[in-house]
Order: sequence, then structure tokens, then C-alpha cells
Amino acid sequence: MAKTVVCGGGGFIGGHLVADLIRQGVDVRSVDVKPIDEWYQVFDKIDNRQLDLREKEACEEAVEGADIIYNLAADMGGMGFIENNRALCMLSVLINTHLCMAAKDAGVKRFFYASSACVYAADKQTDPNVTALKEEDAYPAMPEDGYGWEKLFSERMCRHFREDFGLTTRIARYHNVYGPNGTYDGGREKAPAAICRKVIEAKLSGNHEIEIWGDGHQTRSFMWIDDCVKGTQMIMNGDFVEPLNLGSSELVSINQLVDLVEDIAGVKLKRRYNLKAPKGVNGRNSDNTLIQKVFSWEPSTRLRDGLERTYAWIYEQMAPKSAKRFAFAQPVH
Ligand code: NAD
Repeated sequence: MAKTVVCGGGGFIGGHLVADLIRQGVDVRSVDVKPIDEWYQVFDKIDNRQLDLREKEACEEAVEGADIIYNLAADMGGMGFIENNRALCMLSVLINTHLCMAAKDAGVKRFFYASSACVYAADKQTDPNVTALKEEDAYPAMPEDGYGWEKLFSERMCRHFREDFGLTTRIARYHNVYGPNGTYDGGREKAPAAICRKVIEAKLSGNHEIEIWGDGHQTRSFMWIDDCVKGTQMIMNGDFVEPLNLGSSELVSINQLVDLVEDIAGVKLKRRYNLKAPKGVNGRNSDNTLIQKVFSWEPSTRLRDGLERTYAWIYEQMAPKSAKRFAFAQPVH
């Protein structure tokens, strides 16, 4: 069995990918910079390593003896994080660059890079009634500052390692991924998890208000994690060499996202709009014509279905903590 390495295996998508590979009986090594007890999912019987993949030597250790590399390691987060940490986001270029070099030297058979919809040119995303983004819309380039430029540059790094050095590379451009076992607080969370957390906070505290970043009219699509894990492996194992959109095409406004979560939670909240908060582009959707053509498949889990499971998981994490806070707040008799 080919040894497969998941870089960023302690993270949200990486953790789910590792879980799925183990289910298939694949021999996996999982690598992340975080201490192992901070990984979202840890699987005992595999080779788990804490390595800083910005370092070339660490990349060499990570890929040693491996045939297949998934690079999902990046210093990233939701809009609040990437708009305020552009240099940090760009430093992830060290991870992909050193991983490509190490993979080439080690004779790795396949290399996957997790790119993002943030590579798309800003002037194609000014209207909430967005025309879905096609792969070709990444050029002429004017991606999201910092994070998006790093992703676009790293895509090209993969392309040229393929063309010049014969490293087989595959690239997916993920559009907002959501699901359990990921970030839901602390500043790096993305909209679905943040909205679930805020609705749960309101429910548990009895303060029936919610702050929404922007005017709520900005639109996005959100991909359920299982679709992401499936599509990632399809793209990795397929023959298509150019970057491919991997995202849902079910477009919703942030207000509609809040409606859905309120409905799941069984509450109705007073909405406060913070127009000064980071809100990203006005509209973004995934055009899935190409992935449909190549694989006769696209991510299609309904947002409502995935949100129910995400909400339930975040609620499970938050309810015990809230109960503890409440217990400590009680006078001791
Ligand atoms: P995540 O933050 O949960 O996972 C990334 C992991 O990379 C983290 O566990 C982090 O500790 C690790 N990492 C960071 N720096 C590292 C280093 N120097 N060495 C080793 N590991 C390091 O994020 P995620 O949502 O799982 O995203 C995975 C990949 O998909 C990233 O490349 C991200 O940019 C990309 N992506 C994600 C989304 C999304 O909606 N989640 C959208 C577009 C692209």
C-alpha cells in the first residue's frame, strides 16, 4: 500500500481526510505544526508527527518513504483572520515550496495542493447577484490580498514543478468548507461555524441578539466537508492537471445563512449589522461546469443538511462549557 502523507492533518479538512483514508485501509502519516493534543482529530494507530513544514528539513522528514502527498497545511482562517494577517498568510508559501522541493527529491508519485476561491479576481466579485466563478476567471490576476496571492503563486509553483521536474501535481480551489471538528471560535472560524456559535451563545445565554459582519446581503456558497474529502481524492487520483473548483453552487446570502441556523436552533434573534467588520467580497459562487465535465460529479449536499450536523457538533462542544460557567456563577451554600 502506498504511504500517503497528509500535511495539515491536525486541521479541519486534513483531519477528515485522514479519517477517510484510514477507513479505506490506506497507510497514512499525518503531519501538523500544532502539538498533537491540539489536533481536531487524532488517530492512534497511524504515524502522527509534529513538524513545522515551513522548514525544508521538516518537509524532507514528512515525505520520507511516501508516494502520495496532500498539502493542506497553511496558516489561515476566516475573513477576520486573513484580512488582518496578510504577511502570515503569505508565509505559507514556504510550506508549499519546501514540500514541492522535498517531494521532487524523494520521487513522490502524486502531490495535491489545497488552493482557494480567494485566488479569483476581486473585480469579478463585486455584486451579490454574482455570476459563478469559472476556473479561467483567476486571470488576469487580482486575488484576495495576502492569502489569495499566496494561493495563486503556490498553484503556479505546483504547475512548474509538474512541467519542469515531472512531479505529478493536482490542485483544487476550495470554496468555503464547513462541518464538525473544525474551528468555531478564537478568530480563525469561517461564517457557518461563526454563525452557529453566535446563535448557540444567544440561545444558552438568553440574550437573543446576534452581530452580523457586513450588511448580511453578501453571498457565498458553502461545501459540506464530506463532499470536500471526496472531491479532493477524485481530483488527486484523476488525470485532470489544471486547478479545478471544488465547491457547492448553492448560493445563499449571509442573512439566509442566519435564517437557516435560527431555524435549526428554534430561535429568532435581533440582528445587529457591523458594517466595519471584515466581510470579504460582495458575492462569490462556484461554477461547477468543469468538474461536472471531468468527473460527472459536483458537491451537492444541501446546506441545510450539513448545517444541522455542524450546529449539533458545535452545540455539543459549547453546552458543557456553558453549564460549567453557569455552575461556577452560582453562590455556594
Ligand atoms: P485548518 O487551519 O483547520 O488546517 C490547516 C492546518 O495546517 C492547521 O492544523 C495548522 O496547524 C497547519 N499548519 C499551519 N502551519 C503549518 C506549518 N508551518 N507546518 C505544519 N502544519 C501547519 O484549515 P482547513 O480549513 O483544514 O484548510 C486546509 C487547507 O484548505 C488550507 O490550505 C486552506 O488554505 C485550504 N482552504 C480551506 C478552505 C475552508 O473553507 N476551510 C477554503 C479554501 C481553502
